[in-house]
Amino acid sequence: MHHFKSKILALFALLFLDGFISGKAALAAPTAPSGNVILITLDGVRYREIFKGVQMSKKAGEKKGSSLIPDIEKIIQANGFSFGNKWKDSWGKTRSPMVISNKIALSQPGYTSILSGVFEEKCRENGCPNTPHETVIDRLILKEKTDPKKVATFASWDLIDRVLEKGAQTAVRSIEFGPVRGLTPQESAPFDAIQAQALVDRPTRWGGSRWDKYTFEMGHLYLKTFQPKFLYMMFVEPDEYAHKKDYPGYLATLRDFNSRFVQLVDTLKSMGSYGANTSIVVTTDHGRGRGLLFPKHSREWLDSRYIWALVLPSENFRKQAGIRATEDDRFFHVDIRPTLEKLMGLEPSKISTGGRRKSGRSLVTVD
Ligand SMILES: [Zn+2]
Repeated sequence: MHHFKSKILALFALLFLDGFISGKAALAAPTAPSGNVILITLDGVRYREIFKGVQMSKKAGEKKGSSLIPDIEKIIQANGFSFGNKWKDSWGKTRSPMVISNKIALSQPGYTSILSGVFEEKCRENGCPNTPHETVIDRLILKEKTDPKKVATFASWDLIDRVLEKGAQTAVRSIEFGPVRGLTPQESAPFDAIQAQALVDRPTRWGGSRWDKYTFEMGHLYLKTFQPKFLYMMFVEPDEYAHKKDYPGYLATLRDFNSRFVQLVDTLKSMGSYGANTSIVVTTDHGRGRGLLFPKHSREWLDSRYIWALVLPSENFRKQAGIRATEDDRFFHVDIRPTLEKLMGLEPSKISTGGRRKSGRSLVTVD
């Protein structure tokens, strides 16, 4: 009897608390949402396949123009924005090219510009030392005092470890085949279990990168478990297949990404106010050569300068009057960091980028 009574009391307490918390949250709801962001990069994906689907039908063994990301197209057309489309006869609203913020179209300088918002002049290879530039992660942890557990990266390629943070190196991460860092052993156990699988199931056609499916599985689990302020997932399979001249393999990675993106959107829908406050930004570190030069990317292949970005602002962000895509005749990698900051409710950092643009600007504008 006594036991029963305390159970009832506990139930009342729960109901009361629940009402109290949600009431309080409703009162405190800010007009300009302070949001969360999921950043995703797909290594070495051309704007051509993003906006016009299958390009080389013979190599692909299927019809030219078949969409590789049909669900993403629908979602972005309805609720988001795309950048980097140069054609009038394909999907998307803006028609301005987007270009890298370095001179050589390789990965490390590309990722450096994405995360720090600078035009990368010095780093011209993939073996540069740790970034000397403040990144968006540095800002979150050192300036905004965000709990390092709310700032997490899951990456298939270890190169990114030198790009993430200039400073603290305290943000959570699982990079390629390294150990999970930043969590207690108990917290990291489910991620270690996925990594154990990844370690016995390594790609055999190329060395040194984790299959993207494991990176996604970990990132997705982290999203549900920790509700991060900033979650970064770095996928590399498109570039790996492309270097192997495997066009069907490269195309398949985009189809995989289409279904992963849908999973993320569905998960956010099931996460209540956190989900309604979370935006997704997708981009690439560099493009690739034109036509049959698709396996290559570097300064010699001009088309590898062209990149793209997809932005899905959070549900709360979309409710703001006057939200629109920024208009310009050209967008750059250095515009990504200000976009991430804007979507997290932060004033975009004023960074002198050193490139053609004086400084980056958010791809999303609110009037
Ligand atoms: Zn490459």
